[in-house]
Amino acid sequence: MKNLRIAIQKSGRLSEKCLSLLNRCGLQFDNRKRTLISRAKNHPVELMLVRDDDIPHYVRDGVCDIGIVGLNELEEKIGCSKSPDNPVKVIRSLGFGSCRLSLAWPKSVPFEGLESFSGKRIATSYPNILERYLESKSIAAEAVEISGSVEVTPSIGVADAICDLVSTGATLDSNGLKEVITILESEAVLVRSNQTLESEQEDFLTRLLQRIDGTLLAQN
Ligand code: ATP
Ligand code: ZN
Repeated sequence: MKNLRIAIQKSGRLSEKCLSLLNRCGLQFDNRKRTLISRAKNHPVELMLVRDDDIPHYVRDGVCDIGIVGLNELEEKIGCSKSPDNPVKVIRSLGFGSCRLSLAWPKSVPFEGLESFSGKRIATSYPNILERYLESKSIAAEAVEISGSVEVTPSIGVADAICDLVSTGATLDSNGLKEVITILESEAVLVRSNQTLESEQEDFLTRLLQRIDGTLLAQN
């Protein structure tokens, strides 16, 4: 059969947890090799190590068959993952990489609810999710796309507020910001495309999912 190709983050917050999940499912890779693609030693599987931002499109376009990515990236790059005609489907929630995408506001400025964002500039790396949210709440605000260090933008005058990933809130706090509204609860998810796989690949994926379920059950 054709190798089942799995995309995971090359280096970042999700990398080790993804590898360890796949290891616990019995897939062994040569960990010394940090190449783009590495073949499993004992199964018809190839691991693709890429930036997390690229995983949703790689899965949609069939560059890889399945992938592990934060729900936040999936929602940003592909759109509403719950819609049935979405080209990329969430097939498991994996219980790690938990965080939330939240609006944060300067502690020094009075906050009077969502209306406070009207007419403001909001810096974010997630403009699509933010714009969908603002539209759904009928708030006219400007999403300013920033690729990194979003939390410093209010203090340097680039934006009035931010929309960013939060886990403990410590980064916001040390930048004079407070979390005011959560837009999305996120965690790492296993995704696949709507495209059909070869039947042997489909069978292998079914067995892999059973192992993943076993692994997730064992750790809870
Ligand atoms: P890459 O180089 O692959 O693009 P990155 O810098 O975009 O990496 P990371 O910071 O490693 O990404 O985060 C990867 C994912 O980890 C996020 O998309 C999110 O789903 C999850 N995550 C969990 N907690 C946090 C947090 N506190 N801040 C940012 N991301 C978090
Ligand atoms: Zn990224």
